[in-house]
Amino acid sequence: MSTSTPCPLLINGEWLRPAALATSPVFNPSTGEVIGAVPLAGAAEVDAAVQAAHAAFPAWAETPVVDRTRIMFRYRTLVEKHFDEIARTISREHGKTYAESRGDLFRGIEAIEYACGAPTLMMGDMVTNIARSVDCETTRYPLGVCVGITPFNFPAMIPLWMFPLALVTGNTFVLKPSERVPFTALRLAELLVEAGLPKGVFNLVQGGKPAVDALLTHPLVKAVSFVGSTPIARYIHQTGTAHGKRVQANGGAKNYVFVLPDSDVNKTVEGIMNAAFGCAGERCMAGSSVITVGNRGRHLMGELATAARALKVGRTDGEAQPDMGALITAAHRDRVLGLVESGLSAGAKLVADGRGVKVPDAPKGFYLGATIVEDVQPGMALAREEVFGPVLNVLHLDHLEDAIALANQSAYGNGAAIFTNSGKAAREFKHRVQCGMIGINIGVPASLAMFPFSGWNDSFFGDLHIQGKESVWFYTQQKVTTTRWIAEGVGDVWRK
Ligand code: NAD
Repeated sequence: MSTSTPCPLLINGEWLRPAALATSPVFNPSTGEVIGAVPLAGAAEVDAAVQAAHAAFPAWAETPVVDRTRIMFRYRTLVEKHFDEIARTISREHGKTYAESRGDLFRGIEAIEYACGAPTLMMGDMVTNIARSVDCETTRYPLGVCVGITPFNFPAMIPLWMFPLALVTGNTFVLKPSERVPFTALRLAELLVEAGLPKGVFNLVQGGKPAVDALLTHPLVKAVSFVGSTPIARYIHQTGTAHGKRVQANGGAKNYVFVLPDSDVNKTVEGIMNAAFGCAGERCMAGSSVITVGNRGRHLMGELATAARALKVGRTDGEAQPDMGALITAAHRDRVLGLVESGLSAGAKLVADGRGVKVPDAPKGFYLGATIVEDVQPGMALAREEVFGPVLNVLHLDHLEDAIALANQSAYGNGAAIFTNSGKAAREFKHRVQCGMIGINIGVPASLAMFPFSGWNDSFFGDLHIQGKESVWFYTQQKVTTTRWIAEGVGDVWRK
């Protein structure tokens, strides 16, 4: 297929390439080359997808939960069978290393596995004899058409946070993945069809803002799950709820990593390197701001700089794999560079400089090497804004209270981590830091599928988080039935 042929949409079980749609190029960040085109769906395609999902809903909702789950078990087997191929697709369109792409997909499989527990997850509560001869019970019902809108940075995991659980709980679904990584979502959709999902139950539309707006305002859409940057998350929540939808919207982040003087040096450096530079920093749980507390700080800088300089940057689209891949687009790489420059001109100090990194076999790739900046002051854009690139900023403070107060000034609230051997310091940190996911000697405390992905503040808009039981509640509504049988009924079965 030529790189200008747009990838198809999946609407009502048909793979469609609407001829009139404008397209947007898809890049291989490793080389800067165009590898495909994504169609930009509009209101007409979104309406067709939502109508298909709406029409498929009654029969799917009536399908016994064990039968819905069986399809999800088959889906899990298929995703695992094609694991390597999907991971390579992620690396090719996203730029992350093959190992990171495997991690992305593996976390997605965990979400499918969680969804395979649907018969148990759907169980309600019951109290017998809540009043004399009265029983009371809750039962869960699906909502109808649910929508998923996802970012570029986890092309497999984040869509898989959403549709497996929405489907097994009896909803139908329309997925709108990031227009920058359409091919992973396409493959995930193809395998869902192969797993035997009835037509219309799952639909895939590709595109950008017009597609999102049509989904947010469509009267037949009941619920919207979103993951992306904070301004868009806020917009999705406001617009979706204003149109009567249930909305869960994860936003951006700025995650602090505290280092105390008593932490294990090697494990701390390893943890920080992974937190700051894993996936080239394009993670909402990236530990991009280190605060050293007490007298360890300056000593640690040498260790961090050596480790950062040793990170090999390069192409991720072949067999040989580097430690770190390219950023998603040239424009994003330039934005990250701009933030580094602004910090330096405001007085921050460069400790490791990844700006001039060279990848000889791919000179047009969107690369930036591991960069560490020290003495970043709280007012600087580098300290306040989400960087979303391989840039670690480090600040040294003397007291834990001051470090906690500084971290709590952040508008965000996704995660924070502490490296220490002091139980008292760790407890104080866990108790007082204002964010939803805490790591103690874990640099990236991203929660697993059975726990909520629990952002606070501007990292989340809504009530029920993605993942875990909260997500089951998000995709279902409860009925409370109160029962009392008064008459004796038919037949002479009672002792007089
Ligand atoms: P993004 O906000 O640019 O895009 C996310 C989705 O919104 C995409 O599907 C995109 O097509 C759509 N979109 C973009 N602009 C829009 C607009 N103006 N109106 C309507 N829809 C629009 O995010 P991104 O660059 O793809 O992803 C990176 C961001 O996602 C980072 O901020 C990162 O922290 C965040 N993120 C958050 C989490 C989390 O769980 N909190 C997880 C992963 C990524």
